[in-house]
Amino acid sequence: MKPRYLTKSRFKLAMECPTKLFYTGKKEYVDNKLEDPFLEALAEGGFQVGELATAYYPGGTNIDTLDYDQALNETNELLKQDNCVIYEAAIKYDDFFIRVDILQKEGNQIKLIEVKAKSTDARTDAVFYKKDGGFLAGWKPYIHDIAFQSYVAQQAFPQYEITPYLMLVDKNAKSSTDGLNQKFKITQDHSGRKHVTLAEELTEEDLAGELLVAINMENACYKVRYEDTYTYVNEEVDFSELIKNFASMYKQDQIIEPIINSSCKTCEFKASDAALKDGMKSGYHECFKSSLQWEDKDFAEDNIFDLWDCRKTPTFIQEGKIKFADVSKEDIGFKEDNKPGLTRTERQWLQIEKSLNNDSKIYLDKENLKNEMKTWTYPLHFIDFETSSPAIPFNKGRRPYEGIAFQFSHHMVHEDGKIEHRSEYLNTEPGFNPNYEFVRRLKSELENDNGTIFKYSPHENTYLTMIYHQLQTDESFIKDKDELCHFIREITEYEVDKKKIEGPRNMVDLLKLVKSYYYDPYMKGSNSIKVVLPSILNSSDYLKEKYSKPIYGAKDSIRSLNFENETWIEFENGQVKDPYKLLPKLFDDVSDKDYEYLNLHEELNNGGAAMTAYERLQFEDIPHEVRSEIEKGMLKYCELDTLAMVMIYEAWADMIK
Ligand code: SF4
Repeated sequence: MKPRYLTKSRFKLAMECPTKLFYTGKKEYVDNKLEDPFLEALAEGGFQVGELATAYYPGGTNIDTLDYDQALNETNELLKQDNCVIYEAAIKYDDFFIRVDILQKEGNQIKLIEVKAKSTDARTDAVFYKKDGGFLAGWKPYIHDIAFQSYVAQQAFPQYEITPYLMLVDKNAKSSTDGLNQKFKITQDHSGRKHVTLAEELTEEDLAGELLVAINMENACYKVRYEDTYTYVNEEVDFSELIKNFASMYKQDQIIEPIINSSCKTCEFKASDAALKDGMKSGYHECFKSSLQWEDKDFAEDNIFDLWDCRKTPTFIQEGKIKFADVSKEDIGFKEDNKPGLTRTERQWLQIEKSLNNDSKIYLDKENLKNEMKTWTYPLHFIDFETSSPAIPFNKGRRPYEGIAFQFSHHMVHEDGKIEHRSEYLNTEPGFNPNYEFVRRLKSELENDNGTIFKYSPHENTYLTMIYHQLQTDESFIKDKDELCHFIREITEYEVDKKKIEGPRNMVDLLKLVKSYYYDPYMKGSNSIKVVLPSILNSSDYLKEKYSKPIYGAKDSIRSLNFENETWIEFENGQVKDPYKLLPKLFDDVSDKDYEYLNLHEELNNGGAAMTAYERLQFEDIPHEVRSEIEKGMLKYCELDTLAMVMIYEAWADMIK
């Protein structure tokens, strides 16, 4: 039996919700987080930062073992030296056990350095505080993390003077060399564990850009420990009492009474109906049963966690208004206006009403959508970008987390109804920043007519605007710089002197149109294209009829660059199967569960599966044939994204007739 210590990750879980400590690590409970920790680091971005940080404290020893006792022995042995640097140092005190990212010892002084891939624009701890002296919510988890480590280290080593630091990414810094990020590669050891390793030594010049900044956290940790108080099961306690309670309850495997809170919405211990049928346990269901005395039938009703764009969740919980049936029009602050389309609260009320009335019919504002469609110019262009924002820049002069646009897909719909997958772009060449080439290709595809261009979300606008600024500030000679900038300005909206300006051919956001004019109860609170597509395929007889034949990518039918004779309509339990699930997985070495997580969580650094695939192609040594298979898969996924937009358009065009 492994000792039941309160580690950094368990402490973090407990700070989100103390009840989670009971469910974590138990095989019988569903846990929807990524199983593969390396994949998690990749998906969240910034996975190279930890390795870069070690270059700021060179010559250290890495404690690689995962065995608690061995790691402690190795750390204590190294600490016998007057001066040393240890990566992943292990420290234990009572029932607490931590691995410190970087520990630097000089005589009786110890620096504890916690490395985070989060970016900051300040080099002091002032960035963490609100005007009233409290911590900004977004920084709290990071501050609590280092305060926890500082507590454990101080208790374990009272003879040393411990100074805690947070090492963050300075978003104002610029890379001083080209190709820095290609020096960090993903490698696999004999046991299959993945690591980030240095392919080439870093030079002084590489580090001169000071991309990382270490911020002294003494004051912040003091505040956490001695000034702030915390609620533990309805009692006010200080930090050390709080974590001792966590450690003791975890050690005894006792549950800390659940208190329903806003984070229940995304609780990783919530089982789907399918998982429940398979006999898996659901922490979420147990919490609601014990805290609100719910019975199984109560889970069938929609609740505030299902409500689209709900900004009053804490108030509703406090007032005991959990189910839709408890929420009134006044509660959501229902407002109408005289503009075409639904207001935010009208859409919310529509969702609530349809759910309460068991009404599964779609809502479509035919008249206003028709008016909108009359303003469109043929041929219509549907575009979608795949992007990545690496923490460590590709090129000299570039800042951390500047975006890379590596892929687009482009469908066209002509006035006579002809549809074609017209063009695409994908560049995964390691270390190459494709942004300018990307815009060049996009321009060459879109400049041949004056047709309306569609995006789904503001993402495309954000990236084009970013590339515009990169072009503007780039001092090197770019022969078509003016033309590229002019093109971007034509198809985007942007700000000049705080005034919003729309280019003459500004892209139309299909997502905005969905929010204003279309609602399908199947979508519940999500407007993601990955949810809208299966929903509209189920509700449109036109789409069902058309795409149940193998016409996509067929000769003399719909031209496709990646599919041949594809039939998009397949039924499962009387419902159209999600077309995204018809595509092959991008990687074989990722479990089905992790893969589904990546696919469904596009919010993960804006990319999910496509961005993860791009990063693996950048930093992993992947055989040529596997590489080309992954690229083929990426092209299919992106093509389906723009095809999904076309299908939404086709269904609407049929529905408004
Ligand atoms: S369902 Fe809510 S109370 Fe229960 S573990 Fe998850 S977040 Fe905590």
